[in-house]
Amino acid sequence: MSKEIGHFIDGRRVPGESGRSGPIYNPATGEETGRVAFASAAEVDRAVQAAKRVQPEWAQLPIIRRTRIMFRYKELIERHMDELARLITEEHGKTLEDSKGSLIRGLEVVEFACGAPHLLKGEYSLNVGTGVDLISQRYPLGVCAGITPFNFPAMIPLWMAPLALVTGNGFVLKPSEKDPSCPMRLAELALEAGVPEGLFNVVNGDKEAVDALLSHPDVAAISFVGSTPVAEYVWRTGTAHNKRVQALGGAKNHMVIMPDADLDQAVDALYGAAYGSAGERCMAVSVAVPIGEEVADRLIEKLAPRVRQIRIGPGTEPGVEMGPLVTREHLERVRRYIDLGVEEGAELVVDGRDFRMQGYEKGFFIGGSLFDRVTPEMRIYREEIFGPVLSVVRMPSLEKAVEIINQHEYGNGVAIFTRDGGVAREFAQAVKIGMVGINVPIPVPVAYHSFGGWKRSLFGDHHTHGLEGIRFYTRLKAITSRWPDRPQGPEWTIPTLG
Ligand code: NAD
Repeated sequence: MSKEIGHFIDGRRVPGESGRSGPIYNPATGEETGRVAFASAAEVDRAVQAAKRVQPEWAQLPIIRRTRIMFRYKELIERHMDELARLITEEHGKTLEDSKGSLIRGLEVVEFACGAPHLLKGEYSLNVGTGVDLISQRYPLGVCAGITPFNFPAMIPLWMAPLALVTGNGFVLKPSEKDPSCPMRLAELALEAGVPEGLFNVVNGDKEAVDALLSHPDVAAISFVGSTPVAEYVWRTGTAHNKRVQALGGAKNHMVIMPDADLDQAVDALYGAAYGSAGERCMAVSVAVPIGEEVADRLIEKLAPRVRQIRIGPGTEPGVEMGPLVTREHLERVRRYIDLGVEEGAELVVDGRDFRMQGYEKGFFIGGSLFDRVTPEMRIYREEIFGPVLSVVRMPSLEKAVEIINQHEYGNGVAIFTRDGGVAREFAQAVKIGMVGINVPIPVPVAYHSFGGWKRSLFGDHHTHGLEGIRFYTRLKAITSRWPDRPQGPEWTIPTLG
């Protein structure tokens, strides 16, 4: 039966009223499995008003009570892990193992949120002047909104919602229209955990819903994750409406392989980082930079046979390493990039374009592709492809490698594989990139640190989750106090402390 996804407003699922909707596909079979409503500005307003109504009372709750709800939320997500993973795989296409892995990364942010009493203690200075004390406190912003991409329909909403809520805010989520089922369940589970009705709402939709959030006078802050052009638009429009905005964008992540690297380890790492989740990860490695011709030749020799043999299939089947892409449109886009690479003169060592999945001929499958002798001028190097396509850019020296990495418009992640600690250390300091891996291909910081790129991979001042997340969802108040001198007389006397 075809599913109809509406919105989650004021503690319940409601059908869409705008008359506009979009298709939801099962990427493995290619069939349309349902429709998702696209919210109008009026529906967005209803969600914001619901959050605005209950947020002040929520913010007044003792922090330990908000935290207990986060503990229950964590338990509920754990209990529903299989169901949530299946919802992701059925609409996104990635393997069940990848879906669960991403849920666990999201869950870790909920666990971090459980430390809120400690995180919100504020700062205190005694005697900043004679008899004067100063306390810095953190206050919630009001109603915050999250706008999230298709590739992590649970993890990225969970980067945002738990921290926005535990710090005392209301939250309105506008998830990707491509895979809305899991985000809807996450809001339902939050309600079951004890989050008050109306505090956490989900509005589904497209640009119209996003624009309504960006200009809504009662939305105080916007967290966005998605492609760079939209991130920049969200940041410009949101800040023009006086909102606090963090907008994370696209990426092109390089992995440098030094001549002294353990090549087998590097190839294993590259294989997983480039082709895992069909390359639809903002921390996927899409450029390998071997230093020296010999390393490059050996790398290609070891990697190419593995790329030809990736176990591709529906994400729900055991043993599958790579599922389909999210939509037919995205599949065509990735194919066009491979055509372009050939036209630009790169050497296509493994061609995934003609891959057909037997029994799933209408699914959005593509094989892994590997380009050698890609140069920094080519568009396949400069632009984000967001598919299972790895470009090898041969460089004569680490210096040249750092040069191209720093010149690239994106600055999300980077990795170096080497046995030399000094070289790794210098490299980590020299690159203009937000997240660096040393013999770690996908250096996603754990939940209690913060995630974010540099350059055009992030607009705004705050990275996401960790302490940066707490800072983003709160504003500071500094209270400086002095008390009148105590009255004179023996009954008021207290011993002077040292
Ligand atoms: P997208 O930019 O197309 O969509 C992201 C969100 O913005 C969705 O909710 C979508 O509905 C909305 N949106 C799309 N077009 C819009 C428009 N014109 N105006 C207003 N809103 C619009 O991104 P996507 O295809 O869903 O996700 C893939 C992209 O996200 C890739 O570029 C990837 O690198 C990036 N990404 C970045 C990170 C990171 O942490 N930096 C993490 C995951 C994904």
